[in-house]
Amino acid sequence: MRRKLAAGNWKMNGTPEMLAELSTLTGGEDGPQILICPPAPLLTRAADVTLGSKVEIGGQDCHANTSGAHTGDIAASMLKDAGATAVIVGHSERRADHAETDAHVRAKAEAAYAAGLTAIICIGESEEERLGPDCLDIIAAQLDGSTPDTATADNTVIAYEPIWAIGTGRVPTMAQIVETHDMIRANLTARFGDAGAHMRVLYGGSVKPTNAAEIFQAENVDGALVGGASLKASDFQPIIDALA
Ligand code: PGA
Repeated sequence: MRRKLAAGNWKMNGTPEMLAELSTLTGGEDGPQILICPPAPLLTRAADVTLGSKVEIGGQDCHANTSGAHTGDIAASMLKDAGATAVIVGHSERRADHAETDAHVRAKAEAAYAAGLTAIICIGESEEERLGPDCLDIIAAQLDGSTPDTATADNTVIAYEPIWAIGTGRVPTMAQIVETHDMIRANLTARFGDAGAHMRVLYGGSVKPTNAAEIFQAENVDGALVGGASLKASDFQPIIDALA
C-alpha cells in the first residue's frame, strides 16, 4: 500500500491570510498525507500555524551543498530546521529559470536525503516532446538521471508534471496519464525492486477540484503536486478529499 499524498506548491505566492488558512486543512485519521511548500521565508510561520495538525511543510528547492558561499541559496538542513519534512527538487520552473540539469537535481535529492528530508523529484516533458515519438523515453531518461541510486520508498516521491499542463488549465488525457505513470512505475520497480513498487508517484499540472477524482483513479497515481489550486483552502481541501 502506498499512502496517498496531496502536496501543494505555493511557488512565489504567500500572504498572512494564506498562512492562516493552513490550519483549516484536514485529512482524517487514515487520510492522505498533506504537504504544503510555501516560499522559504514563510516556512517557520507555516510550521507554527500547522503545529499539531495533519499538515506538513516542505521547501521548494535546496542547494546540493550543506553550507558555504552560495548567495540566495538554502541548504536542505536549514529547511529541516525550519520544520520541513520534504523538499521539491527539479521543478520545471527551476530547470528552466536556473538551468538545472538532471545531474543537479540528483545532487539536490542526495542533499535532501542527507538532511533527513523526503525529496519530491519532478520530471516531465515539454509540449514539443509530448507530440514527438520519443516522449516516454525522454521522461524515462529524466527519471533515471534525476533519481539517486540511494532512493527509497521513504525518502523519495516522484512528481510527473508535463510542462505544458502546468498553470495552463490543460491536462493530458487519462490514457496519457495512465501510460506515463505505468511506465514510471515499471522503471522504478526495475531499478529499485520492492522500494520502486512502493515509491509514490504524483501527477502535477492543472489539478483542480473538478478533475482530481478522475486523475486519482489511475492505479499508479498516488496523489498530486498542486500549484494554483493549493493557494486557497477551498480549492485544496476538495483535492485532499478526493484522495481519501
Ligand atoms: P499548477 O502547477 O497546478 O498550477 O498547474 C503545478 C506545479 O507546477 O507543481
